[in-house]
Amino acid sequence: MTQAKLIDGNEFSAGLREQITARVQEIRDHHHVIPGLAVVLVGEDPASQVYVRNKHKRTIECGMNSFEHRLPVDTSEHQLLNLIEGLNDDPAVHGILVQLPVPKHIDAEKVIEAIRPDKDVDGFHPMNVGKLASGGLGLIPCTPLGSMMLLRDHLGSLSGLKAVVIGRSNIVGKPMAHLLIRESCTVTIAHSRTRDLPAEVRAADIVIAAVGQPEMVRGDWIKPGATVIDVGINRIALPDGKSKLVGDVNFAEAVQVAGAITPVPGGVGPMTIACLLRNTLTACARLHRLDIPEAKPWS
Ligand code: NDP
Repeated sequence: MTQAKLIDGNEFSAGLREQITARVQEIRDHHHVIPGLAVVLVGEDPASQVYVRNKHKRTIECGMNSFEHRLPVDTSEHQLLNLIEGLNDDPAVHGILVQLPVPKHIDAEKVIEAIRPDKDVDGFHPMNVGKLASGGLGLIPCTPLGSMMLLRDHLGSLSGLKAVVIGRSNIVGKPMAHLLIRESCTVTIAHSRTRDLPAEVRAADIVIAAVGQPEMVRGDWIKPGATVIDVGINRIALPDGKSKLVGDVNFAEAVQVAGAITPVPGGVGPMTIACLLRNTLTACARLHRLDIPEAKPWS
């Protein structure tokens, strides 16, 4: 039996970061502008600390300015909103990201809405959500944007293909569905109340799994030759006491049936940070009215 082609997110994201680095150099040299990303972390959640460290490292590597704001867990909502207001007004800052989740005493929705939409590099502000839904030129959430880049690179045109998105979260499922509609796919959004999920998946040429359930999507759900994008990142315990990362798709089964599939790790994961850098460059280009391809949603 033929095996699916592996869609290599490590390789693609490395290429994307190289392109971004070259563009940053170009706009530093020709426009004397250095794109800047501000990342705000409230509290000491260990996973968030790792994410923030990685974002800082990658931002510096591609020649951008990285502004880290680490605040104690007892920071008040008012203090956080004041910081965001300052970043909104700071001309050296083109992208603002508040690492989620924030502590319980802070209203995440208020925080997201406080960020200037044109600096909202996570793409979570209602203005950007609306622009994505209405086909406007906003900032697109990083994980769906990265997934779409991989799909377009693999498939070229997506027009007329049937896609199923499993998961309807605001950060992955819903924006992904909007991006697929934008590419003229026929889109089904599935979730925990979907009646016959295997049948919905079997009808799809493109499967996006964003569920948070380890290896839930089985090989015999996949239409032969379909393209599978596994967004899930789940850590599971092994019998020897160690652990490993798996996706939402049973990779060993799906790889026998699909036409192409993203592995976990090394698929969508590395695209997320690369797209954050890309969004920062996009925001910078738009704020300074630079005529570069990154000023568009993607080139
Ligand atoms: P959420 O928990 O916010 O959403 C999960 C979605 O899956 C919900 O819509 C839920 O349905 C649906 N769901 C849950 N169980 C089932 C089921 N048994 N059958 C069908 N649908 C189900 O998760 P996120 O969207 O934030 O994340 C999804 C996955 O993607 C996670 O594994 C996460 O770690 C990963 N992730 C990876 C990123 C990356 O960089 N690669 C970035 C962000 C997330 P309902 O709405 O009905 O409850």
